Amino acid sequence: MSANESRLAFQQIPVEPLSAVGEIAVDFANFIAAGFEPARLRHCSGEACSLVFYDSSRNGARRWCSMEVCGNRHKVKSHRARKTDTE
Ligand SMILES: [Zn+2]
Repeated sequence: MSANESRLAFQQIPVEPLSAVGEIAVDFANFIAAGFEPARLRHCSGEACSLVFYDSSRNGARRWCSMEVCGNRHKVKSHRARKTDTE
């Protein structure tokens, strides 16, 4: 065996952002830990989304079940709308 063949190789494993289901699980764990406030139970503002989430944000202004899914869809849509207005 040569020196090259015994070399170690390192591979970085990418860390995925939390899925919508993962975020809901985190919300659930947070409200169990912090105490449940019914007023913070909200419907997602996403047009095609019927998910309900628990708003555990400090300011209580969360609108989306998941920023990665519905939040980004909204951002893209409003960006396109602004672009169309100015053209
Ligand atoms: Zn949503």
